Amino acid sequence: MFSRLKFMSLASDRTTVLRAQRSRTNCKSVSKFDGMLSDANPKKANIASSSQIQVPHLIKKQVYKFNEGKLYHGFQCERVERIPDFDLTSYTLRHEGTGTELWHIDRNDANNVFSINFRTTPFDSTGLPHILEHLALCGSKNYPVRDPFFKMLNRSVATLMNAMTGPDYTLYHLSTMNEVDFRNLQRIYLDAVFNPNLAYLDFLQEGWRLEHKDLHNRESELVIKGVVYNEMKGAVSDNSKVFNRNLRNNILPDHTYGHMYGGNPLEIPKLTHTDLIEFHRKYYHPSNARIYSYGSFDLTKTLALVDKEYLSLHTRIDNSYSRIPLQQRWSQPRHVHISSRLDNMGAAFDRQNQIAIALLMCEITNIQETFELNVLSEILIRGPNSAFYKSLIEPNFSGGYNQSTGYSSGTKDTVFVVGLQDLLVKDFKKLNDFFNLTMYKAMKEGFESQHVESILHNTELSLQHQSPHFGNALLFNSTALWNHDGDVVSNLRVLDMIARLRTCLKLNKNYFQEKMNKYFENNLHKLTLTMSPDELYDENFKQAELDMLKHKTNELDNEKLEEIYQNGLKLDASQKATPNTNLLPCLSLSDVKEPPIWPKLRIQTIQEVQTQICEVPTNEITYLKCLFNITGLSEDEIKLVPLFCNIINDMGTIKHDFREFDKLVLSKTAGINFKLNFVENVEDAKSYQLSLMMTTHALDKNVPDMLLLCRDLLQNFTLEDTVRLKMLIENYISNISIGIASSGHLYAMLGAAALVSSASKLKSLLSGIDHIDFMKNFVQKNNTADIRDQLKSIGKKVFNKSNMRVAINSSDSYLPKAVDHLNNFLDKMPTLEKLNESSDITLLHPSCQQYLMNIPVSYCAKAFFAVPYLHKDHPSLCVLSKLLSSKYLLPVVREQNGAYGAGAKISSDGIFSFYSYRDPHSTKTLVAFEKTYEWLQSENKKIDQQALFEAKLGVLQQLDSPIAPGNIGMDYFLYDISQEMLTKYRSRMLSITIDELHDVIERYFKENSKNYGKCILGPPIECLELETSEKWRIIA
Ligand SMILES: [Zn+2]
Repeated sequence: MFSRLKFMSLASDRTTVLRAQRSRTNCKSVSKFDGMLSDANPKKANIASSSQIQVPHLIKKQVYKFNEGKLYHGFQCERVERIPDFDLTSYTLRHEGTGTELWHIDRNDANNVFSINFRTTPFDSTGLPHILEHLALCGSKNYPVRDPFFKMLNRSVATLMNAMTGPDYTLYHLSTMNEVDFRNLQRIYLDAVFNPNLAYLDFLQEGWRLEHKDLHNRESELVIKGVVYNEMKGAVSDNSKVFNRNLRNNILPDHTYGHMYGGNPLEIPKLTHTDLIEFHRKYYHPSNARIYSYGSFDLTKTLALVDKEYLSLHTRIDNSYSRIPLQQRWSQPRHVHISSRLDNMGAAFDRQNQIAIALLMCEITNIQETFELNVLSEILIRGPNSAFYKSLIEPNFSGGYNQSTGYSSGTKDTVFVVGLQDLLVKDFKKLNDFFNLTMYKAMKEGFESQHVESILHNTELSLQHQSPHFGNALLFNSTALWNHDGDVVSNLRVLDMIARLRTCLKLNKNYFQEKMNKYFENNLHKLTLTMSPDELYDENFKQAELDMLKHKTNELDNEKLEEIYQNGLKLDASQKATPNTNLLPCLSLSDVKEPPIWPKLRIQTIQEVQTQICEVPTNEITYLKCLFNITGLSEDEIKLVPLFCNIINDMGTIKHDFREFDKLVLSKTAGINFKLNFVENVEDAKSYQLSLMMTTHALDKNVPDMLLLCRDLLQNFTLEDTVRLKMLIENYISNISIGIASSGHLYAMLGAAALVSSASKLKSLLSGIDHIDFMKNFVQKNNTADIRDQLKSIGKKVFNKSNMRVAINSSDSYLPKAVDHLNNFLDKMPTLEKLNESSDITLLHPSCQQYLMNIPVSYCAKAFFAVPYLHKDHPSLCVLSKLLSSKYLLPVVREQNGAYGAGAKISSDGIFSFYSYRDPHSTKTLVAFEKTYEWLQSENKKIDQQALFEAKLGVLQQLDSPIAPGNIGMDYFLYDISQEMLTKYRSRMLSITIDELHDVIERYFKENSKNYGKCILGPPIECLELETSEKWRIIA
């Protein structure tokens, strides 16, 4: 899926610590739905209910806002249903004139969502739907402003604004808690999709173009440029994504899924502007659209706007042209081999292979069946009790499951995949052999009921877990099903689906075996995909690109050449022209004056342990977080803590072996997880604290069991099984290098900050590129028994009450009991020597480093030390970072230099960073970072009241973003930032004047900071030192 704002997922300033680490995939969870939204509730909403078996719902007489059969602003209300599982009412309406379906979810949730979806089915790999998605947001009839989407990012307090292209749909969505904002954005989005300008110059900018290397020199060579062109060049260098795409292309080869919807860089230049306009006319017709709205705002206003301004101007057409037929089943299995980029940060060359077996399953619209197949695949794949884990992972001949593994219901036919990464070519055969053996064994022996129940319990628990982005998650999880006319409403009745499955399992002991027989054993639509690295991969791509360029330029006559030259100049001029943003709506100060109100926190000492208590409606769930100070560990020990966090919950305890422990944990809790927490002192940034956090949650009734399991793990963890430990360590190493090519800007920022202070240097060792290198070396030099002893000593030193703090979030009715149980739990924790609570930070001399990566586009960053969070200048610098991102870096680095993204930010540790994303011109970008002050001087007039206010809104988007009930109070618990400090920061930020902004510009940007660092992730650059006037350390 290609998302417009991928590179901006930096979100909240306060929680950026170790973010790069989080962006990696957790090898423990293989479910596809986890990827949707980190802790989104309807993970299971996707895996859904049945249209065949109708369970009668006794609905009490209820007053509905809209009634079936009635007409509201041109929309006929067709279906109304109350869904208790998620405490919502679903309204399905259809526009009489155009047939457009509008699905409204009425729910008492402030974070409202609106989206327009189209079914888009390309028949080539020119990236048509993707480039159209970019272009639609480049100005429309009522908003003829260049790139209103990016302009609106700073004129709104949206909690999410984005557009996405998927294999068969394009989605434009937004969410906000502010109604004025909601209405503003709604108008812009509707106009963008139904009346876009689709201007030729925008096509050149966003899609592709031939342009002179030196714009003003007709004699200079021609090159290919374009935002999507570069975006896709970056995308083809991410091996796990390439593998996943090829799986889809090859298992569903006959229709639209056989093509690369995002665009193949070598095909993109075949696309013409006329193709694009035609594609829009055909696929963006209201009859091919679906509109979604969610939350508490008044729906009638939406209906009136949509009908009056847009839909009533169109007539209904037959939209069957965009329907996707079922894939014709094969009569025999197929095998496809592809080659990939050699990842110089990945495993050794001979191990850098991947293999997967994919099986076509049922149609996505069969919702009870897809629900059950998802449960079955969790049972087969997930965790140490699953059959495939035992047969494929435990023998340890690979780096674990690959990223494609799991049940995927994103296409018309659903697919089951099990795949391995980092294995030798000679072991490919093992997957095939073991696959069949495992399947027969599972069919013969059946499944253990306690294991099945633990998976079902987890599904039930996830229904009750509240996420602040529920409306968005519901949309994402319903999009594919809705796109194929599936029953998205019944799909929300997850409890019914679970009940139906339980009944089937009770009545038929062979229920799952029969499914396996149908979908696994007797399924000839089976693809084996293998992938191996090719040292010439990049060379071949470059050559193909050159050939294409040559072919393109050979066709050109003088007239065409002149046109290219003139277009280059025109585009440049239009990029540099002052946009008429006055045409766009904007919030006013009065719309955002009030800060959000959070529940009060209570601090109490329980059994000598400082405990933070938060009473908040949690829907019968209690959330527990235990923080263990580890600052006093030796540096050697600290470097192993990320590994420790990853494996400690996977080894079992002295009482329960790892299989049993996993079952128990899943049947009583949502899992017990560990992560590292790194916090610089927010007052002076002169010291830092490191801690290890354990998080878990459970239904209130399971809290005593949850605490027993936590205690068992903390006090009785065992690492004795060195065979298992070795396997977990090797899988960990295989997983840490995944995703660098997708989140390179985060790694580049970590790499630049590492050159600024000792704390950031350590951070990079714990979660940046340096961590990968460190781990690989460490494992080579130490045997498993030694590693075990070192890990053991970490646990022994830190898991005790002397180094512990606790946070508990629970609802008023259960909280007293929760505290009682906590008291018991803490009473039994041992007391040990208290470790040091903080370490000093030293600032470093300026330096620059490049991590060489064989990818076609780079990621750049510059970081310097400014001031920590509580310093009075921090809010001004935060506002300035927003202003620089939108007014300077995006226009220059993105629009003019062709990088996919760019921006600036300041984090709570006081580090101010600039970054670029998928950047074709790293040295130009670094020069642009250096010229910030110059720009601020020469474009003085751009820093007016409006620009200042927009930048403040950008900061508010972070400060006021909604927080899940289980995470309320974390700013204080983790970063020592109290609610009072937050409120003060917010009002100080809102009061900043232009003069104050100029004042920080003079003090922080006029001269280069004494402590700065620059970092590039990417291919070797000729004349790097010359062009940047810096000395560079190159890390191969
Ligand atoms: Zn894109």
